[in-house]
Amino acid sequence: MNNFKFRNPTKILFGKDQIENLATEIPANSKVLMLYGGGSIKKNGIYDNVKKALSAFDVVEFGGIPANPEYSVLLDALKVIKDKKIDFLLAVGGGSVIDGTKFLAAAAEYEGETPWNLMTDRKPVTSAMPFATVLTLPATGSEMNSGSVITREETKEKLAVGGPGLFPLFSILDPTVVASIPQRQLANGIADSFTHVLEQYMTYPSGASLQDRFAESVLKTLIEVAPEIMKNPSDYKAASNFMWCCTMALNGLLQQGVPTDWAVHAMGHELTALYGIDHARTLAILASNHYRYNFETKKEKLAQYAERVWNVTAGSTEEKAKIGIAKTDEFFKSLGIDIKLSDYTEDYSETGNIVSKRFTERGWLGLGEHKNLTPNDAKKIVEMSY
Ligand code: NAP
Ligand code: FE
Repeated sequence: MNNFKFRNPTKILFGKDQIENLATEIPANSKVLMLYGGGSIKKNGIYDNVKKALSAFDVVEFGGIPANPEYSVLLDALKVIKDKKIDFLLAVGGGSVIDGTKFLAAAAEYEGETPWNLMTDRKPVTSAMPFATVLTLPATGSEMNSGSVITREETKEKLAVGGPGLFPLFSILDPTVVASIPQRQLANGIADSFTHVLEQYMTYPSGASLQDRFAESVLKTLIEVAPEIMKNPSDYKAASNFMWCCTMALNGLLQQGVPTDWAVHAMGHELTALYGIDHARTLAILASNHYRYNFETKKEKLAQYAERVWNVTAGSTEEKAKIGIAKTDEFFKSLGIDIKLSDYTEDYSETGNIVSKRFTERGWLGLGEHKNLTPNDAKKIVEMSY
């Protein structure tokens, strides 16, 4: 196991009716900016519950943050923060609203040339405005981590920023919000969280037995809960397990003491930036091909995954590893997710070259847990996914 330092300061309020606690969790006398997305919260009652809980505060609203939080929209929100002298941000939404809010928290205190430099500096964010979240869509883990991914349509870029200043002060996880989530987003949430675990687990060497079993338990629980939640998102038991799996998949715990990969996410972000494909679906397109391409180095772990997560008992290491990869594809397909790039766009023939060129230009010359996956390797993995 590798050395590590671990601190996660985000307070979690989990369960029914936790939104009522907003009033006691937000620092008294704060001027609050409530941020949300395209309006789903106005249809499912979450907006009313949050407004009611905030009745003692001076609240300004900023709605309209799109899925894949867009830089130009966030600049409008940044102006509101400055003009209205806001001192607390409350994200009410899924990963996009939360990530957008994190960017704003950092941008409000950033002194670089333009706010976009935050995304290109590649420096950890150590100071930001205080913010919290009311999670409406289990998927990203953003409610309990310090990462944020922002899209800039103008340049077709999707870049990540993070740092110890970007943990939410607290997050409210009420599983009853899952009841109104459409099938497409439920499937995305399962696929994104599943891949988050894989990125921290399908690495070598690890020697971290407890971390492996933490990861396997999240994967197994997601597999168990997936058909239940897809069938009935109002099932509280399924919704609560689904929600907690998504948070645990990426709140920093699983990655302690182990090498982490993240190449699937790096490549996936390019597919979203280029073609607007849902984040989770880009991961489903790429994950198995990444494991096929890196089979020799990852096969022991793939076999362990097949055995422990998919109960594959027969066969050699290679055979089990291959079954593990096939099971992963089948799982994504069982959620109704297409796993080929050509299922999403006809304009795919140059994608591998574009991804390789972009990684080279950015100096991303070595990805993966050992920083040895070159832009040309990424090109080949993307091409395997056509
Ligand atoms: P999302 O983009 O936040 O939301 C997707 C859609 O679901 C939106 O149309 C939203 O509608 C709707 N929705 C949300 N909650 C709902 C509810 N309770 N009922 C009905 N509809 C609801 O989806 P996401 O998968 O959570 O976030 C994806 C983003 O997170 C991507 O940009 C991805 O790159 C990023 N990401 C971040 C991390 C991280 O650690 N920070 C990790 C992985 C991915 P409204 O717009 O109306 O709310
Ligand atoms: Fe993700």
